[in-house]
Amino acid sequence: MIEVAGLLYEYPGLRALDDVGFRIERGTITALVGPNGAGKTTLLRCLAGMERPLAGSIRVNGIDVVDEPRASHRHVGYLSDFFGLYGELTVHQCLSYVAAANGLDARAQAHAVGETAAELGLTDRLAQRAGELSRGLRQRVAIAQAIIHSPAVVLLDEPASGLDPEARFALGELFVALRRRGLTLLVSSHILAELEAYSTHMLILQGGRLVEHRALAGTAAMPAQA
Ligand code: ATP
Repeated sequence: MIEVAGLLYEYPGLRALDDVGFRIERGTITALVGPNGAGKTTLLRCLAGMERPLAGSIRVNGIDVVDEPRASHRHVGYLSDFFGLYGELTVHQCLSYVAAANGLDARAQAHAVGETAAELGLTDRLAQRAGELSRGLRQRVAIAQAIIHSPAVVLLDEPASGLDPEARFALGELFVALRRRGLTLLVSSHILAELEAYSTHMLILQGGRLVEHRALAGTAAMPAQA
């Protein structure tokens, strides 16, 4: 579902990703773990087709992300670590806008907004302005925006940051529900313990290099390179 090989990414004077390669299977939840500056955000942005690597290949759901970033957007939902919402729009308007931007027609938009709001527990918030919501609710709206076009792969950068324990638990439940629907998730965090309860696999980045990639819950280890 996600195949990465030989990925190199450089900021001026700094190699942020150094020969990163791995393969992620459909219907899994992979925890992307590493300290500050490890390269997690850079990797997710490359996978989401928002940064162009210096070298290497990325295939998501069969699409070559480096050659066809726009085509890949249809298959990928991405939640940035610092996301913004249009505070003056209602939750309904936020979701409809993103659905339309993803090319859904009016009928499909209405359906997607209803379904996604229900899945995220936002049905009774649809008429409320995004700017009036708590941090946890804004996070849910941002995740709803990321999955409104039913992507096959969801990339979430630190989705649990700033959430209280109850909201974190609810987030984990949501990820498990998305996985049951066949989605493939890659979720970053500094802390593996936050993700361990529901992740099937773990990727560890350190200093731009992949140092470990293995299955969790007692399954056999996988080699770091695909
Ligand atoms: P964090 O956990 O702090 O979010 P991260 O693992 O997501 O970190 P990245 O944000 O991908 O790491 O950063 C990887 C490296 O690239 C770091 O050394 C960072 O300082 C550097 N970096 C990130 N963005 C830029 C940029 N726009 N220009 C220059 N260097 C950058």
